[in-house]
Amino acid sequence: MTTRFRIFHPEATGLGAFSAAMDAAKQQGGTVRVPHHSCSVRSMLGGLALAYDPELELEVVRVQLGEVSLAGAHGVLVMDELPEWKREVVEAVARVFHAGHVRLVLLGHRGGTAAGEKLVGSWAKRHIELPASFHVYATARRCPCGLSSNLCRCRPDAIKRFNDRAYSFRELFETPVSSGDAK
Ligand SMILES: [Zn+2]
Repeated sequence: MTTRFRIFHPEATGLGAFSAAMDAAKQQGGTVRVPHHSCSVRSMLGGLALAYDPELELEVVRVQLGEVSLAGAHGVLVMDELPEWKREVVEAVARVFHAGHVRLVLLGHRGGTAAGEKLVGSWAKRHIELPASFHVYATARRCPCGLSSNLCRCRPDAIKRFNDRAYSFRELFETPVSSGDAK
């Protein structure tokens, strides 16, 4: 079995290894999602939202699939430039990655209509769980500027911070977390 998390360092290996991994994933029928590193937790994990349906004339609960669900079973979520991602987003994706499912909860509502209030009442503690068995292929450069080492003018401490960040994000995926530890 190949590992579900892989990280690629373009300066070290070129993009060949990354391209080969992507080709293999596509050949196996996996969907490849390439969200931008500025993505929010909400867009990565998805959620439930109330929306007014003019045909039904009712407030309905809409499922907004996140990137982890859009990748589908055994699809690939590409996390390009891993150190650039927000920590809260990386942590959220890693939790779902290890849990094997994502829980979508109903967040807020516009309110105002009687139908909406009723729905919120019945959905207030509701959530749905969707399976999540995606792979994560991350990339990380060796330093913030991304230039080759003879052109790079980054300070050593900046390079160290950048790599520490990549390392700690990598660990989130490579070290299974037990939810029982959170107290
Ligand atoms: Zn640099």
